Amino acid sequence: MRRSARFYRARIRELMPAVEVLAPYAAHEDSGGGRRIPEPPATYRGEYQRDRDRITHSTAFRRLVYKTQVFVNHEGDLYRTRLTHSLEVAQIARTVARALHLNEALVEAISLAHDLGHTPFGHAGQDALNECMRDHGGFEHNLQSLRVVDELEAKYADFPGLNLMYETREGILKHCSARNARELGDLGKRFLERRQPGLEAQLVNIADAIAYNNHDVDDGLRAGLLSLDQLREQALFGEHYDEVRHLYPDLEDRRLTYEVIRRMIGHVVNDLIEHTSAMIAARSPKSIDEVRAQPGPLVGLSDEVFGLHSNLKRFLHENLYRHEQVRSMNDQTQIMIGVLFDRYMADASQMPRWFEEQAASGNTAGKARVVADYIAGMTDRFAIAEHTRLTEPGA
Ligand code: MG
Repeated sequence: MRRSARFYRARIRELMPAVEVLAPYAAHEDSGGGRRIPEPPATYRGEYQRDRDRITHSTAFRRLVYKTQVFVNHEGDLYRTRLTHSLEVAQIARTVARALHLNEALVEAISLAHDLGHTPFGHAGQDALNECMRDHGGFEHNLQSLRVVDELEAKYADFPGLNLMYETREGILKHCSARNARELGDLGKRFLERRQPGLEAQLVNIADAIAYNNHDVDDGLRAGLLSLDQLREQALFGEHYDEVRHLYPDLEDRRLTYEVIRRMIGHVVNDLIEHTSAMIAARSPKSIDEVRAQPGPLVGLSDEVFGLHSNLKRFLHENLYRHEQVRSMNDQTQIMIGVLFDRYMADASQMPRWFEEQAASGNTAGKARVVADYIAGMTDRFAIAEHTRLTEPGA
């Protein structure tokens, strides 16, 4: 006999004692902000799980595999891309969420979506596009991530975008200028009123920094732009380096590097869990709204580890992100973005039909926004191919 979905859900609940306990200060889907367009609940999934699945199925998510983190995609197959970076962020954030009884599905959804709005060529690409958009409202990658999930993904018959839950959108919009915040209604309010987002959003923000700080050390060494000697002078790296060298004196450099990095991640993540537990215990918020009303974030590192982590971040800024080789690649890619922008503005028919039509329907600022959306969605290699097509006809 075939039974209803409700019967099977109830049966599974009987068989499985509840092991996942969500803290009162976590995001709860029943009392959350819901979806902009109400939808009937999913049969077997929670609402944040459903958000995660929508993000994973999105076109923008698949493009992350060919977008730069620090190294342009064609520079080597082993470097991080935006996709592997997002997966590493999700992994770190889920570990912490589980330990603190936060909403793991929400944390995963925010992590996987947090970089969806990134342009090709990483921060250099974003700076270039922001410059192109200077007279048309600018370009912010966090806001663009929200635009992708709210408007640009066209997959559902009933609504534009992915129609995600309020808390997922809150987490995606990590930063926002006051001018743009004013146009975002409820979601923008916290930037104007200086309120906090939920703990899941705070967590992904830090997991993002932990992920890139560590994987950029690995990528920088692999590229030969950083050396072990240089890194040993960084307290966080140096401490674990000495420990691993002492335990395994004959270990080759590559394995030693991995061993040091995994210990650094463990060190920082454990500190994050312990310090955040103490912060939550001290303030004991009873709900996500009480979290939002706190004077500052509750998810964070201890002063000591925050200092070590910030020093490493500064070191990477000075020695990797501003390395001559990275900068010269950035200069080339910034020129490319500028050329693409000018060409599409001058001749919208160079874009696919849908973008061309959108561009024709608005004023200049509206047209520029459509061009920015088109360029922001490109992968590194597509942007390079488009640049070649537009500047070297017949190439
Ligand atoms: Mg990121």
